[in-house]
Amino acid sequence: MFSSLRSIVAHLARRRPAGLFMVAALLLATPLLALGKPATAEQGQLGIPGGHGGLAATSEPLAAKVGARILRGGGNAVDAAAAVAFALNVIEPQSSGMGGGGFMMIHLAKSQETFVVDSRETAPAASGPRMFEDPAKPGEAIAWPLRSTSGFAVGVPGMVKGIATALDRWGTISLAVALAPAIHLAESGFLVTPRLEGSVTSKRLTSDPGVPAYEAARTVFHPGGKPLAENDLLVQPGLARTLRAIAKKGPAVVYTCGFDPANDIAQAIVDTQRATRATNPSGTGRMTCDDLTSYEVAIRQPVESTYRGYKMVSMPPPSSGGLTVIQILKLVEPFPMGDADRGFGFGSPKTLNVMIEAMRLAFADRALWMGDTDFVALPVKGLIDDRYIATRQPLIDPTARMSNDVAVAGDPRPFDMAALVGETKLARASLLDAEGRNTTHFTVADGDGNVVTYTNTIESAWGTGLMVPGFGFLLNNELTDFNRLPAANPDPDDYNPGANDAAPGKRPRSSMAPTMIFKDGKPLAAFGSPGGSSIINSVLNVTLNLIDHGMTVQEAVDAPRLSQTSAAGTPAREIGFDPGAIQALRDLGHKVRVPGAIGSVQAIVIDPHDKRQYGAADRRRTGGVVTLR
Ligand code: GLU
Repeated sequence: MFSSLRSIVAHLARRRPAGLFMVAALLLATPLLALGKPATAEQGQLGIPGGHGGLAATSEPLAAKVGARILRGGGNAVDAAAAVAFALNVIEPQSSGMGGGGFMMIHLAKSQETFVVDSRETAPAASGPRMFEDPAKPGEAIAWPLRSTSGFAVGVPGMVKGIATALDRWGTISLAVALAPAIHLAESGFLVTPRLEGSVTSKRLTSDPGVPAYEAARTVFHPGGKPLAENDLLVQPGLARTLRAIAKKGPAVVYTCGFDPANDIAQAIVDTQRATRATNPSGTGRMTCDDLTSYEVAIRQPVESTYRGYKMVSMPPPSSGGLTVIQILKLVEPFPMGDADRGFGFGSPKTLNVMIEAMRLAFADRALWMGDTDFVALPVKGLIDDRYIATRQPLIDPTARMSNDVAVAGDPRPFDMAALVGETKLARASLLDAEGRNTTHFTVADGDGNVVTYTNTIESAWGTGLMVPGFGFLLNNELTDFNRLPAANPDPDDYNPGANDAAPGKRPRSSMAPTMIFKDGKPLAAFGSPGGSSIINSVLNVTLNLIDHGMTVQEAVDAPRLSQTSAAGTPAREIGFDPGAIQALRDLGHKVRVPGAIGSVQAIVIDPHDKRQYGAADRRRTGGVVTLR
């Protein structure tokens, strides 16, 4: 029968550490996959021995050490997560930071509550659904290179307020203490990693000479006109000054113009996003001081469902992440995904085809029905209702590819009491996603069983490329996650709710999907990934690897991934699958691509029997895990 997480953790528990070491640090330097055949539980545990004292799994080893230090000092998982997030702003500035936002999923062991601190960016009050339309070419959006690097792509950043809120309510340390390691790293510097070296030659850092905010980024990452190289010491005095100001005066320095005249970070954000690369005369950033002051963190209840007896808890709107992951899981549930004797099992043509077909159906729904439910009433319950899923499951045939005419959005409204049911025909939503492939995900647990799994982003690598001059942090281009042109259509013959059309104060639809798996009320696993819309499929692959394929947590993270992010697009796969299986998919009509690495998952698994914690970091980045005994 199906392998279970219970057997995985039992398997892990047999592998006790030999020595009595307190801290095991695993530096995974292999940049890409070199996996050959997917590992099975029998082929050896690649991760590090588990402990009981807490764990930090991040995409940068230094940040994992920061998390461990906070835990060792008595901090809880929320404290450690706060410190890790700020440290990543310094160490991995291209991926996340205080110029952006994210979703921090928290599980509190004592109260058994699981919820999300949502610090997603919001659209300024002066935004609208046509904000990305090219005035010279009505009906067309400004091209991506301009759209994604100009000030009008900048959403009101939420990270500092989000972390301050989390610390205030569920942490034990002050914001100043959480910031201390990041300040130290920014002031004393750290040695540039190969990954950072590979990223600093990005076009975002090399165009527009003369525009101060783009120059500011170049000054930091191309000192003396030369891009940073591996092992260069990167010192960031501007960022250190900013973090010190926050530590001293609190989040208001970031959110209230004039709050600290000596360090007017808020005013500097507003001034910086006025820069534009577009020729559009109205194309400068629209954010005002009022937008910053009125930014609000949201505390959200996750979306929940079950998969093979496990409780899946994931990210609700404004992310499409949790709903889409859960939809795909429920669509594949009738198939014996882990059972090789029945023609399924890891990487078999049937397993891969069922995954692709389920992704296509779920992504069709995502494109039409998902967005910020604070603004648009959407059938969230209906999308994952068993009766609705039962109408979609028969569309999947393990031995065939459904035609594009069939792989379209369904209508979950009849299964959702909250949604209005009308006699409407659904529009075909846009088929391709253009989200970035950056961001960072990390997972932290403490010795008391509190768990935090946190995806944080500035959208594209280097965000807009705009750095707040003198303050050393980059501004996001998150508003490009909105529909680039409005899609709403009330016409009953071509209905579209415009779920992800831009609107003042709205949060752009995300794919970020911090996720936890529970058994008998206790968290068994927690993970997430960067990767734009492929985040959803990275989380899905790891879930199947853990639950259906019986892999250990590191094996589940290592195994090659498969991802299709639109109904009519083509599946992407990593190297490592059986070539015969890939050929079988091609024979069914799937134009399988090999684009490179998909996602970067940082995960933990907790043994329900002895509470031992096992971490895994992704070899696709320079991952690091630190475990405390
Ligand atoms: N902006 C994306 C989202 O919120 C994340 C970007 C990425 O992972 O590359 O879904």
